[in-house]
Amino acid sequence: MTLTDDATFRILVIDDSITVRMTLRDLFVEQGYEVLLAEGGDEGIGVLRSEQVDVVILDLLMPGKSGADTLREIMADEDLASTPIILLTAVTDRGELVDCLDMGANDFVVKPWDDRELLGRVRSKVNAARKRIAKDEQALQAARLLAESNIELSQVSRIDPLTQLFNRRAIEESLTLEHDRSARHEHVYSIVMMDVDHFKLFNDSQGHQAGDDCLQQVAQCAQQAVRTSDMLGRYGGEEFIALLPETELADAQVVAERIRDAVYERNIPHPASKTADRVTVSIGVAAGPGERWEHLVKQADEALYSAKESGRNRVCARQDRVPTANVSHSE
Ligand code: GH3
Ligand code: MG
Ligand code: MG
Repeated sequence: MTLTDDATFRILVIDDSITVRMTLRDLFVEQGYEVLLAEGGDEGIGVLRSEQVDVVILDLLMPGKSGADTLREIMADEDLASTPIILLTAVTDRGELVDCLDMGANDFVVKPWDDRELLGRVRSKVNAARKRIAKDEQALQAARLLAESNIELSQVSRIDPLTQLFNRRAIEESLTLEHDRSARHEHVYSIVMMDVDHFKLFNDSQGHQAGDDCLQQVAQCAQQAVRTSDMLGRYGGEEFIALLPETELADAQVVAERIRDAVYERNIPHPASKTADRVTVSIGVAAGPGERWEHLVKQADEALYSAKESGRNRVCARQDRVPTANVSHSE
């Protein structure tokens, strides 16, 4: 049922008597209901299968397929079985009436019926249907809200609040996926690991808040320097990592150099730095896949260490050609 409060409810009258059908049609139409008519059980079931019907008025005593047989067939069809059914019965049908109520008919009215009684019973079915629709809509709305907040939650748990970059957990999840993908398709991928130079001195001289602002600016520079297919995250403290899918070492070095240059050009003053008059970064690059992504991160970290050792504000690279050893330095 899809009808809401203001919608027209549809009543199907199944009765072999044309007089009954016409009388009921006039009665229900006058009340604002939409009315469908069928003169036998088979025709009625056909209407039920093809039209949206909210209440069925079913005559028990009909030639051919009886009301009881019609009801049995409706109840056996799971698409139709929940439609409210009001039986129209003569007093003489009492035994059959009880069987039909057992079978799942919702209510009955004895012929000759009283209009007010019949309308009252129809209204109670319509009200029940309205309540059910409202409840279904509420449940649907609640499910929708829950799904939305779950999505939000899973996003929040993957984002670093200071820089709005991915956090370590999200990066490591992506590394696991990318590593499997690369190993399966024999693709290469690269890791760029970056660390702010003399950041402790920056904090000590300019304060922790200025340090946070600096990290945000460095994050922006890196974000602008990587490609949309790359995944950039804050790995911890003042250390960042970028995952570059399907990227050779030489191309990753170009990206790393772009990041280094972007930070340098941002010209964030750092008078206490022993490297330059401004904030700089050192970067280590490694390409895999190698045996495990953890191995590649270690290689990038070692390259980063080389960059620090050889003067900071520079990019160093290592190629993980085979899972063990065979290390080469580019700087
Ligand atoms: P190096 O050039 O060798 O990398 O020296 P460094 O001073 O940058 O490195 P070190 O590891 O000694 O210091 C890192 C500093 O980063 C210390 C820590 O307080 C600071 N830090 C880490 N996370 C945050 C943060 O979220 N905000 C701020 N403001 N500082 C942070
Ligand atoms: Mg540092
Ligand atoms: Mg560090």
